[in-house]
Amino acid sequence: MSLEERIEKVFTDLFPINRSLTGKGVYETFNYLLENFSLNGELKSIPSGTQVFDWVVPDEWNINDGYILNGAGEKIIDFKDSNLHVMSYSAPVDKIVNADELRNHIYTLPKYPDRIPYRTSYYKKNWGFCCSHNLFKSDKFYPPFTVFIDSSFNSDGNLSWLECVKKGHTKKEILISTYCCHPSLANDNLSGIVLAAFLFEYLSKLDTKYTYRLVVLPETIGAISFLSQTNKKNIIGGMVLSCVAGPDKLSIKEGFDPNHFMTESAHLAVKSCVGEEYLTYPFVPDGSDERQYSTPGFRIVTPSIHKSKYYEFDEYHTSADDLDFVKPKSLVETLEVHKNWIGLIESYCYPKRTNEFCEFHLGKRNLYPHLGGTLNQKAHHENEVGNHQRLFSFEDEVDLTGAHLDAFHWLMHLADGTISNFDIAKRSKLDISIVNEAIAAMYQKELLELI
Ligand code: ZN
Repeated sequence: MSLEERIEKVFTDLFPINRSLTGKGVYETFNYLLENFSLNGELKSIPSGTQVFDWVVPDEWNINDGYILNGAGEKIIDFKDSNLHVMSYSAPVDKIVNADELRNHIYTLPKYPDRIPYRTSYYKKNWGFCCSHNLFKSDKFYPPFTVFIDSSFNSDGNLSWLECVKKGHTKKEILISTYCCHPSLANDNLSGIVLAAFLFEYLSKLDTKYTYRLVVLPETIGAISFLSQTNKKNIIGGMVLSCVAGPDKLSIKEGFDPNHFMTESAHLAVKSCVGEEYLTYPFVPDGSDERQYSTPGFRIVTPSIHKSKYYEFDEYHTSADDLDFVKPKSLVETLEVHKNWIGLIESYCYPKRTNEFCEFHLGKRNLYPHLGGTLNQKAHHENEVGNHQRLFSFEDEVDLTGAHLDAFHWLMHLADGTISNFDIAKRSKLDISIVNEAIAAMYQKELLELI
């Protein structure tokens, strides 16, 4: 099966599942990921009712059925046709209501009359239905209405998340976070789950400097619960995976610190794939779980790389965010960019000259490339070693070109141990891969140390 076919299958398998903050759909999703990917993951749980910072973990919610019958007893809305039809966390209801009462519990989108909106009521006990405005206005919609929702709240339940750890050579950790609380919506948020699974499976085969921790959790309360339970002192940065398979061009939502290595490496990763053809959204304290990770108690910088970012596409939080809206080849593109991003994170360093006085004599160390020769640089920062991929390493052999000579000049000028390889690439306007290869060549000749 090709990568695209595999991605398509995962989307198709996971799309119908009714996910929410808690409940059966979340476990079904986690079990699918554990069965179909090598993730080395485990389920973490926190009991309903637990205080987590300023919040309380909600009761576990499950739903079996939900529908509305019209005055003739015809089923005009059925949860079994679309799980968006019942508001997430709806309380159980079984009664006959008139049109006025129903109007307070039904949600439509007059602007997009053929779509079903996505609505939730997590922290206020309520019940509700969502349907297309066309259906609401149709002659099928007449009272008296029988409204029925077979749902339950379990105060002895749990909120759970999936946590996977890939150990590196150091204890320093990169957090990869995505959320799993949306029902049948494809770009927001199924695409983040699919990318997380493929990316972490790739990562688990690599030999890495940093330790990587993937969390797949319900948005907001899941991230808050995770943060309340986990030792964060080793986390030096992270990424939030969200909305990564839409039709629009790549974009970055920056971390709260635009100069942090996570934000800089995100830009470099996207640039190395598409040049300047991408959008940048500066950090604002809304959106996804960067809202929790960025608060003063944690200050974890977590940028996101998107394809069709939340809030920026009309299909957002409606039934039109479906399997036609996302494309496997879009996810292949964001997967490539994220692999690139990991490679760059791994290369992050502060090169420092071993001798700071004047230029080095490059020629006598065979560091003077044959100018005008063929460009013979490596196609990519990954090499196949048996079945194990590994990332570019500063120990790797480098074929030198004229571009590396430029990089040597910049490194001789800037490598004082206070400027990162990313900033050297930015200031020299050289491609980061050239800068990294030049660092490798000088490091191997003991002209640089890497801090
Ligand atoms: Zn959402």
